[in-house]
Amino acid sequence: MAAVKLLTASDIARLVKEVGLPRFVDGLIERMEETFRRWKELKVVPRVSFSYPWGVMEAMPASDSRLYAVKIVNGHPGNPARNLLTVAALGILADAETGYPLMVADATLPTAFRTGAACAVATKHLARRDSRVLGIIGTGAQSEFLCYAVSRVVPIEEVVFYDIDPLAMKKFEENARSLGLRARAAGSGREVAERADVLITATAARGRRKVVERGWLKPGAHVNAVGGDAPGKTELDPQILLEAKVVVELLEQALVEGEVQNVGRGAVYAELWEIVSGLKPGRVSESELTVFDSVGVAVEDWAALTYLYELASERGAGLDVDLLPSPPHPKNLFALLR
Ligand code: NAD
Repeated sequence: MAAVKLLTASDIARLVKEVGLPRFVDGLIERMEETFRRWKELKVVPRVSFSYPWGVMEAMPASDSRLYAVKIVNGHPGNPARNLLTVAALGILADAETGYPLMVADATLPTAFRTGAACAVATKHLARRDSRVLGIIGTGAQSEFLCYAVSRVVPIEEVVFYDIDPLAMKKFEENARSLGLRARAAGSGREVAERADVLITATAARGRRKVVERGWLKPGAHVNAVGGDAPGKTELDPQILLEAKVVVELLEQALVEGEVQNVGRGAVYAELWEIVSGLKPGRVSESELTVFDSVGVAVEDWAALTYLYELASERGAGLDVDLLPSPPHPKNLFALLR
């Protein structure tokens, strides 16, 4: 029998509750850091993206010598108006030795968790260790995942937040409280940026926006720029990038999709794996500005899907289904039709 594990979003939510959110997230942050440290052993390529007037569709493969993963994901900022998520995804994990799929999983929750974990790894290496105020602009679907993960690596005492949608703010406030985070609503993105030691931008809008201006940032602030992740879709004042120590995931992809598409290669200090591996120093002074220009890379999904597969297998989560054919002889596939 060629069984494939089917892991739905509800299965993942149940698994996270069983493991416990802090343990699940801490484990994923650790796995993410280890994955960045193993960067040179992994097969890493930029994703393949197709753009449409209403959004983007992306295919994201990554592998080590044993496990191959691919995610398909979208980015459709107009979706919430149709009662759909801006970002929804599906992941497949396969055994690289035989090529057989091992798991088909929702990758919407894993995307949110892995983006949070990647921001946490960047924050750990780039933010001031005494960062107490976390700011977030854009409190949509990703926001709680991002804030919670970051709060696991720096001693956050307060989360200041803003969204142009009052309902998204109300939802964030309730969810943040349930996570034990002290959440304080701000009246503007500027107010958030002016108060934040660590700032997350996670807005969804097409176009080259300036959700944050250079003059609003505190000396020594660290920015996790998450929402600028496609050609022509950015959030930061380019002056920030020209003055800050800018770290990307994968240079080739960031130059097309990230904030740095507005300023070019010269503004990039390092790829995150170089910092995590100790090849280049992260933060070196209390006053420098740092930016993690995240667009999301396939290796992060690989880390999340392999982590989930291990946990799900250990705990018997998901459903093993006969998705693939098992003919009587490998050359007699046609037997299935007779
Ligand atoms: P979402 O649509 O659920 O939330 C986005 C929020 O931004 C909305 O609540 C919207 O009202 C708000 N917003 C838009 N413009 C704003 C502005 N100028 N100021 C304040 N708020 C504003 O989207 P999501 O799923 O939370 O994703 C957020 C962004 O992150 C998207 O752009 C998505 O493409 C991106 N993303 C990046 C990664 C990554 O790895 N870097 C991963 C997932 C999502």
